[in-house]
Amino acid sequence: MTEGSSEHLDVLIVGAGLSGIGAAWHLRDRLPGKSYAILEAREDLGGTWDLFRYPGIRSDSDMHTLGYRFKPWTRSKTITDGASILEYVRETARENGIDERIRYRRRVVGAQWSSSEARWSVEVEQTDTGEIERLTCDFLWTCSGYYRYDEGYTPEFEGIEGFGGTVIHPQHWPEDLDYAGKRVVVIGSGATAVTLVPAMAEQAAQVTMLQRSPTYIASLPAADPIAKALRRVLPDRAVYPLVRWKNVLLQSVFFHLSRRRPGMIKRFIRRGVERALPPGYDIDTHFTPRYNPWDQRLCLVPDGDLFAAISAGRAEVVTDRIARFNERGIELESGRELEADIVVTATGLNLLFLGGIKLSVDGEEPDIPRAMTYKGMMLSGVPNFAFTVGYTNASWTLKADLVSEYVCRLLGHMDAHGYSRCVPEVSDPSIVEQPLLDFTSGYVQRSLHEFPKQGSREPWKLRQNYVIDIRSIRRGALDDGSMRFSSGASETRPADPVAV
Ligand SMILES: Cc1cc2nc3c(=O)[nH]c(=O)nc-3n(C[C@H](O)[C@H](O)[C@H](O)COP(=O)(O)OP(=O)(O)OC[C@H]3O[C@@H](n4cnc5c(N)ncnc54)[C@H](O)[C@@H]3O)c2cc1C
Repeated sequence: MTEGSSEHLDVLIVGAGLSGIGAAWHLRDRLPGKSYAILEAREDLGGTWDLFRYPGIRSDSDMHTLGYRFKPWTRSKTITDGASILEYVRETARENGIDERIRYRRRVVGAQWSSSEARWSVEVEQTDTGEIERLTCDFLWTCSGYYRYDEGYTPEFEGIEGFGGTVIHPQHWPEDLDYAGKRVVVIGSGATAVTLVPAMAEQAAQVTMLQRSPTYIASLPAADPIAKALRRVLPDRAVYPLVRWKNVLLQSVFFHLSRRRPGMIKRFIRRGVERALPPGYDIDTHFTPRYNPWDQRLCLVPDGDLFAAISAGRAEVVTDRIARFNERGIELESGRELEADIVVTATGLNLLFLGGIKLSVDGEEPDIPRAMTYKGMMLSGVPNFAFTVGYTNASWTLKADLVSEYVCRLLGHMDAHGYSRCVPEVSDPSIVEQPLLDFTSGYVQRSLHEFPKQGSREPWKLRQNYVIDIRSIRRGALDDGSMRFSSGASETRPADPVAV
C-alpha cells in the first residue's frame, strides 16, 4: 500500500447511487462554485439499481416519488423495472455532467476531522490496486446506502452444504443461471421474494415461496391510471408534481391509518388478497401476518402479479419452518419435504451505516450508537458531515432530495457568514434517546444496536413524514440553537448560536 498525493475539495460525496447523483445535482444547481467529487467503490454508478440483477428486479414504490423532485418520471409504468431506474439515474448524471465527477473503484475507508484545520482528511482505498490515497475536504457527505454490498444476509441452515442443487443469494445473481423447467424454492417473504416468485414462475417448472411467517402484501396498478389520464391533457412537467403529491398524500394517510386504525387497514388489505386469489385459498395461514400493517415494511405487487402466479398454479406459498436441507431439497418442521433444483435465499440484507467508513473527530472515534441524529441526516458531535438515508415508510428519494436541499442551504449559510464549521449538539437535557427505527423486521432488529439514536423531540426526532420534513428540513431555521456554527480554522469551541 502506498499513500497518494493530497487534493482538496469543498465537498466530497461518497457513493454514486440514486442519492449521490441527486446530491451532486443539488450542489451543482444551488452552489455551482463549489468544487466536488463523488467517490464510488464500484465500477459503475447506480448503486442498488446496478447491483441487483435478479429476475423481475423492480421498484416497490412508485417512480413519481422514487424519482427526483427535479426530474419528472415520464415512462408509462410507475412501478418499474430496475433497468429503467438505472437508466434514469444514468441520464441524470449524463445530462448534468455529474458523470465526469465520479471517481470509480474508490472506497472511502476512513475520515478524520481536524478542528485546527477545519477540514476532513479522507482515506480512500483504490479497490483494484489496494493503494491508499488521501483527499481533504471541507464537508463530507455520505450517500452510501444502508447495506453491505459484498454480502447479503443468509441465516445458518443445517445441512445446506449437502444440498445437491444450486443455492443463490439474490444479491449475487449469476448472469447465466438457466432456471427454465427447474423446480425453484425461494426462501423469504419480503420485497425480493415477492418480486422473484412471479418472475421466475414464467419459465420455471414450479416456484415455491417458503416463508416462516407472512407479510402484508397489497396490489397496485403498475401504470398509474390518474397519471395516464392527466398525460393526455397536460405536459409531463405539470403531471409529475400532481401525481407525486397525490402519491405522497395517499401513502401518508395509509401509513398513519395503519398506525392508528390497524384493524381497518388489516381488513382492507385482506379484502384485496381475497379478491385476487381463488375462493377457499388459505389466506389465514399464508397472508395474515401476526403484526400490524407497517410494523414491518409493506410489500407492493404490481397488477397483482404474485397472486396471478399462485392462481394459475405456477407458484405456491408454503408457510413453515426449515428443519434442515438434504440432498434433494428442504425438510420442513411439519414433516413435508420440498424438492428443489435451485434454492434462492431471499433472506435479506446486512445493514451497514455510513458505508463502513471509520470516522474520527480530533483523534477520537465518535461512539456512533450513542450519537443522536439531527433531522435524520447529521450526527451530534460530528462537524461538517451529513449522510443521506431515505424513508422506510415511503420512497427513499423524497427524503434524499430534502437532505440535499438542506445541505446546500447549510453550506450557503456558512459561506454567507464566513463560518468554517457547523456541528449539531444536544444541549437540552430533557431530550430522551430513542431507537432510530421502530420496525420489528429481523434485518432492522439485527443491526439496530450499531446505529445512532434519535431524540424525543425535534430536531433530533426522526420524522418519517415528508410533509412534516418539508417544514423542518426545507423551511426550518438553520440557526436553531442545536446547530453550532463557528469560524476560523483554529476555533475548536462552538460559537454561540446566531439569532435568525
Ligand atoms: C432490491 C431493492 C429494492 C428497493 N426498492 C426500493 C423502492 O422501490 N423504493 C424505495 O424507496 N427504496 C427502495 N430500495 C431502497 C434503495 O436502496 C433506495 O431506494 C435507493 O436506491 C438508495 O440509493 P442510495 O444511493 O442512497 O444507496 P445505494 O443504491 O445503496 O448506493 C450507494 C452507493 O454507495 C457506494 N458506497 C457505499 N459505501 C461506500 C464507500 N465506503 N466508499 C465508496 N462508495 C461507497 C456503493 O457502492 C453504492 O454505489 C430498494 C432496495 C433494494 C435492495
